[in-house]
Amino acid sequence: MKSFIFATNNAHKIEEVKNILNQNNDEFLIRSLEDENIHFDIPEPFDSIEENACEKARVIYSYTGKNCFAEDTGLEVESLNGEPGVKSARYAGEGKSSEDNIKKLLAGLENASNRKARFKTIICLIINSEEYTFEGICKGMIINEKRGNAGFGYDAVFIPDGSSNTFAEMTMAEKNIYSHRRKAVDGLVNYLKSMK
Ligand code: IMP
Repeated sequence: MKSFIFATNNAHKIEEVKNILNQNNDEFLIRSLEDENIHFDIPEPFDSIEENACEKARVIYSYTGKNCFAEDTGLEVESLNGEPGVKSARYAGEGKSSEDNIKKLLAGLENASNRKARFKTIICLIINSEEYTFEGICKGMIINEKRGNAGFGYDAVFIPDGSSNTFAEMTMAEKNIYSHRRKAVDGLVNYLKSMK
């Protein structure tokens, strides 16, 4: 079994990725930062999702020397010129909640007729000192008000193409049918399987 550290402190992301990887007959063992007794926040200093994902993986790889991967995700809204994008976590300001981020997003879209948006995830894998990236995109739209209680972040205002429910109205397995993160994990898994 191949073992990796998933370099995130976000419990939702860990759960989602474990849920996806479990469909691969437990071929991969994921260890969280908590499992590894790592208790610091990893910085996201860059202006691109790609660079932030790789920075997180590099920090944990150089700290532990163990194979690991990290991911960074952004919500890109067409009529906001791609915002919040790389700033998705801090859209309403440093230390603000997802609730605040959603409020700012909906206020910015108040008069917008184009509500198209997409989530973009980049996973950066570091294995035996080699670095690889995998992308996952999920297109959809932002609705006018929150719907649903599941999930996290912007899930309650995002409906993926092909569904009439928000991510927050779906089970995790349903979200993983559409999700950006699942698509990026598929790339990761295909690569790992091809290494055998
Ligand atoms: P980060 O990848 O942890 O930096 O997340 C960026 C922002 O996007 C945070 O506000 C997250 O809550 C949000 N986010 C990341 N992934 C998802 C998702 O799958 N659904 C909804 N919001 C997300």
